[in-house]
Amino acid sequence: MMRNHPPLNSGAALDVAVIGGGPSGLAAATALKESGTARVVVLEREAQAGGIPRHCGHPPFGMREFRRVLRGPTYAARLVERALRAGVEIHTGTSVVQVRPGGSLLVAVAKGVMEISARRIILATGVREMPRSARLISGVRAQGVLNTGALQSMVYLKNRRPFHRPVIVGSELVAFSAIMTSRHAGIRPVAMIEANARVTARWPSALYPRLSGVSLLTGTRLLEIHGERSVTGVTVAGPDGARRCIDCDGVVLSGRFTPESTLARCGHLEVDPATGGPIVDQWGRCSDPVYFAAGNLLRPVETAGWSWSEGRKCGQWVADDLAGRLPPLVSALDVKTHDPRLKYVMPQKIMLPPAGTGMVDLQLRVTRPVRGELVAVNGKGILWRQNIHALPERRVLVPIADMDCAGGAGTIQFEIREEIT
Ligand SMILES: Cc1cc2nc3c(=O)[nH]c(=O)nc-3n(C[C@H](O)[C@H](O)[C@H](O)COP(=O)(O)OP(=O)(O)OC[C@H]3O[C@@H](n4cnc5c(N)ncnc54)[C@H](O)[C@@H]3O)c2cc1C
Repeated sequence: MMRNHPPLNSGAALDVAVIGGGPSGLAAATALKESGTARVVVLEREAQAGGIPRHCGHPPFGMREFRRVLRGPTYAARLVERALRAGVEIHTGTSVVQVRPGGSLLVAVAKGVMEISARRIILATGVREMPRSARLISGVRAQGVLNTGALQSMVYLKNRRPFHRPVIVGSELVAFSAIMTSRHAGIRPVAMIEANARVTARWPSALYPRLSGVSLLTGTRLLEIHGERSVTGVTVAGPDGARRCIDCDGVVLSGRFTPESTLARCGHLEVDPATGGPIVDQWGRCSDPVYFAAGNLLRPVETAGWSWSEGRKCGQWVADDLAGRLPPLVSALDVKTHDPRLKYVMPQKIMLPPAGTGMVDLQLRVTRPVRGELVAVNGKGILWRQNIHALPERRVLVPIADMDCAGGAGTIQFEIREEIT
């Protein structure tokens, strides 16, 4: 990668440091430079910037950003090129290991650890798929159990084939990437299993496994992985509870994303247990107002185009903040949900009336298919209501401007009423 910028030194005077060089971080940094911000750096722990798309050797990426359908690596390279052309400094092999109050960061590079600081920091560290250990799957730790991201980086970046006949667990969009990646490498998945009664990804995704010769088993849970050294099979429970063994030599654990929020969690920033990401207001501003957050870190999980767009806007808001154009972080309304059918609502803080900039919508997700009335209430009664028919992993958007009758401070709660079953 072209390096046309000074090295990162301890005590460097930075305007903005962006942690994470994926689509959202690169977009934020590029927008900052385009807004005239002087020294903007992207700190990326991998050897190359570009984030997850670097190892997604398949389409579709880039429709919003480049008005064409690209494969992940081409898309990632173009984002990097655009950022460098705008004057962003990209420092790869640079891991941020601690965030501290007021914008000071502890950074690990090949030579050791140093402390740097910036006037504003943007966290754009993305998400990770839930690993085997967190899924509490029985069996010994045989080789050949991977998340989709790991499978992709083996296939597309290292040209390796970790197994020949895996079972794919899950049916979010990313599980279909696992099939595409497998086909690319000559791997033939034997089954795709989904615990819920229906496929999570949007129709017509469900047709894809069948067209690819992969049997799709819904209502089916993974109970145990067999094999001492490498995987020899799995035991699953079908919709009627009946157990069966499937012969396979690998398992792809796809999806069930969690924001990569360790920095926020181990630092001083407030984290929302519902999204797993930092608590932000409608400008992506965290509980320490020197810090902002963008992209999938905010909540699991959106497409690259959506994350890029969020990053771009966040860059513009940070430029506004540096120019003194954002209102101070006071008297914000808390936005929450206690309804188990709702997974999260983000941003978690809003200031009303909306200021003309900032996120336009609240983003919600459901935990299971829901058809009913979504309502927003505060101490005074119902502020807003709308009938929804929502499915897990699909975003529900609620205009922030519609909350305007809520008054100055307090809490808005979202819940489902009159569910039609
Ligand atoms: C297998 C898979 C397939 C996908 N396929 C598609 C698709 O076909 N189309 C599509 O639109 N979307 C797809 N997506 C989703 C898309 O990749 C994401 O929406 C997008 O990458 C999110 O961008 P981001 O910048 O928020 O995070 P990421 O792309 O995850 O980037 C985060 C970056 O932060 C870096 N980082 C993390 N912690 C630190 C730290 N402490 N210090 C320094 N750097 C750090 C990481 O190394 C990474 O480069 C796919 C996702 C996966 C997992």
